[in-house]
Amino acid sequence: MNCRHLASIDPPPPRSDGCEECLEMGSDWVHLRLCLNCGHVGCCDDSPNRHATKHYRAIHHPIIASYEPGERWAWCYADETELPVPSAALSYLR
Ligand SMILES: [Zn+2]
Ligand SMILES: [Zn+2]
Ligand SMILES: [Zn+2]
Repeated sequence: MNCRHLASIDPPPPRSDGCEECLEMGSDWVHLRLCLNCGHVGCCDDSPNRHATKHYRAIHHPIIASYEPGERWAWCYADETELPVPSAALSYLR
């Protein structure tokens, strides 16, 4: 699958160690996802608050990567396709 978004991003470092919104709310999450457009860390769709998906719906940053230890995959919401993690983002993952 082609993703025209991947080539246009320059991933910044993660902005937090956990889901930004859950940390503020005092809520829990299951897995973490990193927005490769802005460094937002949000929780996955198995989490009660689904902040990674909410971030995409609110701000339309299309590409996330897993921010779970040892996991190396990315996902484009707009194209609904799995992607390799861009090499520029690899050093930010856990
Ligand atoms: Zn895309
Ligand atoms: Zn969250
Ligand atoms: Zn973002």
